[in-house]
Amino acid sequence: LLHPESPFFSLPLRLALSSRRPRIYDPTCDSRAVHRRTPSPQPSPYLLAKLRDYESLHRRCGPLSESIDPTDCKFVVYSPSQGLGNRILGLSSTFLYALLTNRVLLVDFGPDMEDLFCEPFPNSTWYLPETFPFLFQLQTHRFRASYSYGNLLKRKEEEQNKGGKIGQDGDSSSSPALLQIFLQDKYNEYDKLFFKDENQGFVERVPWLVLIHDGYFIPCLFQMQTFRSELEKLFPDQETVFHHLVKYLFSPSNQAWGQITGFYEAYLAKAEERIGFQIRVFEPKQTPFTAVMKQITSCTQKHRLILPQSDTSKSILVASLSRKYYEEIDWMYGRRRRQSTGIAVYQASHEGKQHSGDNSHNMKAWMDIYLLSTSDVLVTSSMSTFGYVAAGIAGVKPWIVMIPDPYHPRGADEPACERAINLEPCFHFPPWFAYPDPPGTGGLVGRCEDVSWGLKLV
Ligand code: GDP
Repeated sequence: LLHPESPFFSLPLRLALSSRRPRIYDPTCDSRAVHRRTPSPQPSPYLLAKLRDYESLHRRCGPLSESIDPTDCKFVVYSPSQGLGNRILGLSSTFLYALLTNRVLLVDFGPDMEDLFCEPFPNSTWYLPETFPFLFQLQTHRFRASYSYGNLLKRKEEEQNKGGKIGQDGDSSSSPALLQIFLQDKYNEYDKLFFKDENQGFVERVPWLVLIHDGYFIPCLFQMQTFRSELEKLFPDQETVFHHLVKYLFSPSNQAWGQITGFYEAYLAKAEERIGFQIRVFEPKQTPFTAVMKQITSCTQKHRLILPQSDTSKSILVASLSRKYYEEIDWMYGRRRRQSTGIAVYQASHEGKQHSGDNSHNMKAWMDIYLLSTSDVLVTSSMSTFGYVAAGIAGVKPWIVMIPDPYHPRGADEPACERAINLEPCFHFPPWFAYPDPPGTGGLVGRCEDVSWGLKLV
């Protein structure tokens, strides 16, 4: 393992000539014009100016720049894990952190993420260059032990308890060249201290950060004094933070766009109303199909989400790993009543189960997320990041169905679904000290509709 203090470590800072694969921003990205064109809500002029500044920073310091000055540029590397929904939330959060701290965002995508998105930053690439010496070790346990910020804080505390003294904040000679910030669901009490204002000064001096996480940690950034006033300027309406970030960062690649528009034109475009069902069951073996369907039907009936009597033609898209939900919904609204209702039900894929490391599986997931986002009415599943992303792109507040969960049984009197109060995703595992601004105090964060221990911008 190369030590960050090693002189060799400065080599990767000369990123210039060697990018992992020759890539560059594709100005022909067919989806971009359509995807980024949202009539409302509009991004603030301050956010737009900040994005333009970021793009020039990325050009100046990023992998394709000719002259890189390591003293002048700092980086944050996003290393993905889990499914596509989690990754999109994680990457959006990392990008906002990069914007706030003037770092260049680089992604450590493997082959399974190939060709899903257009490069977001003009005349540059966001791919981590091959010369990065930690490339193959980013995810390893040993890497975490040696370079994680949590472990550094823990060691510091142990040293102090023994009466020693290491790396006081304010002492720049003690800054490492690289730190891993580990923020996954199983992060420990030391890792969580990343979200404390008093630690940002130290982190700020480290040229390379590697963030390992898969959640939407933006509510915690809003709670930090360090970032609060800048965030308020960037997002005067803090209920659309994710919507703006996801639309800016993730435009479907030409390949994905071809598949999305092909399906859309063939099946969904002609309907006067599009309804999307996103049905995600985390423990299918232990969760009865009928119990899930019961929640979905009581939600749609109670809130009159599908009115077969109306003379509006409707298409229903069912996104789910399982074909059974499609068949049942098709039976209820489509096939059985087609002549009289003008409702047609479709499913783009049914993958059976979640795969990892599979590019074509991820492509289908992206296609489903994007097709869902064309819905006028969205019905999503509790705890699912896949649904949060679809709603965020759509700009449509979803009805979140409370899917039965064997590990977290719900009360019998709980409603079958709740309308999301805004487009913001839920952060599923906030640190205890972030929790929450007391209700009625004008707080920035509050409870999530679907996860009682989660936190979201309100
Ligand atoms: P979450 O687990 O529901 O929070 O969502 P993630 O997107 O993080 O992980 C679930 C993964 O399972 C997805 O990325 C897909 O690979 C797969 N998956 C789950 N639901 C669907 C679906 O409706 N359609 C497709 N195509 N894939 C799905």
